Amino acid sequence: MIPITRPNIGEEEKKAVLGVLESGMLAQGPKVKEFEQKLAESCGVNNAVAMNSGTAALHTALHVLGVSNEDEVITTPFTFISTANSILMQGAKPVFVDIDPKTFNIDPDAIKHKINEKTKAIITVDLYGQLCDYDKIIMIAKENNLKIIEDACQAINAKFNGKMAGSFGDIGCFSFYATKNICCGEGGAMVTNSDDFSKRAILFRQHGMSGLGKYDYNDVGYNYRMTDISAAILIEQLKKINNFTQKRKHIANFYNNELKEVEGIKIPFVVDEGSHAYHQYTIKVDGFRLSRDELIEHLKIKGIGCGLYYPKPLHLCENFKKLGYQKGDFPVAEEISTQVLSLPIYPGLEESDLNKVIKAIKEVA
Ligand SMILES: *Cc1c(COP(=O)(O)O)cnc(C)c1O
Repeated sequence: MIPITRPNIGEEEKKAVLGVLESGMLAQGPKVKEFEQKLAESCGVNNAVAMNSGTAALHTALHVLGVSNEDEVITTPFTFISTANSILMQGAKPVFVDIDPKTFNIDPDAIKHKINEKTKAIITVDLYGQLCDYDKIIMIAKENNLKIIEDACQAINAKFNGKMAGSFGDIGCFSFYATKNICCGEGGAMVTNSDDFSKRAILFRQHGMSGLGKYDYNDVGYNYRMTDISAAILIEQLKKINNFTQKRKHIANFYNNELKEVEGIKIPFVVDEGSHAYHQYTIKVDGFRLSRDELIEHLKIKGIGCGLYYPKPLHLCENFKKLGYQKGDFPVAEEISTQVLSLPIYPGLEESDLNKVIKAIKEVA
């Protein structure tokens, strides 16, 4: 069986974990601090605050930007649930807008039409590892005095005009969940150039404890701390990140060359300004000899795992229909969700596996 993804954990990570286990300091400690410094450096930003998930990072970002009850936050319906759930966690309203039919990222022009006096922020999502059109989005945000939270959970190490993922928003969020491009099982972080946002995030991560006196609190907070065990793994993963991204790009190029002429399959569209991190390699199945679902079934029989990200745009899920959304609201997202198919991609994927995937697709083309 060729899985759709597999974490890449080496001897270095194992040794680092043992080191932490022997140190006696299992919770948040020096390894977390070290990881934060290295993450901030690698993103070209001033501060990183490590957390125990990407969802925690998104929630924290909205809190420190002051998003609360009655506010509206514009985002894409074609994303993982936590992007929108984090808005609900703050009591605010997720305002969805449609996506660009080529990149599947949020459509900047559609953002403009949904801005009103309640709009506080935009959460952009760098889907599959490709950055959004930040030239346009940052301009719209500036003109309307909106904050940007960059959900870069899938895009660590991607670039746009040479600038690193996570550095485009007022705050950028990463996830280190087991399937992400660097991972530790469960983990996340927010990055920001603002010392103020960073300080407030540190309070929110730990019960709102002020740091002035222990057991003194000047804000609400959660327990969103990362463990030193996770941070020790991530320090090693971060050393390998360029190598991981190169391998993902190599696999994507291989797929591109093999699939670009196959009728009914569209290879990923990559913008000129971008450097894609290929968290997913996602094709569009449209006019292929088999339906998308038949193709998935065929690949499964051949022992090839694949994924649907995402089968249902969020506005059509029960919890968001309650807000008044309905079928037809975002036609591009609705259509794309019936066509996308993600193929196996991870640094340890062998050439022989890639050939099997290609052969399995071509034999039914
Ligand atoms: C993975 C992911 C998250 C959430 O990350 P967790 O660490 O699982 O909480 C948020 N947004 C997007 C787009 C993701 O892919």
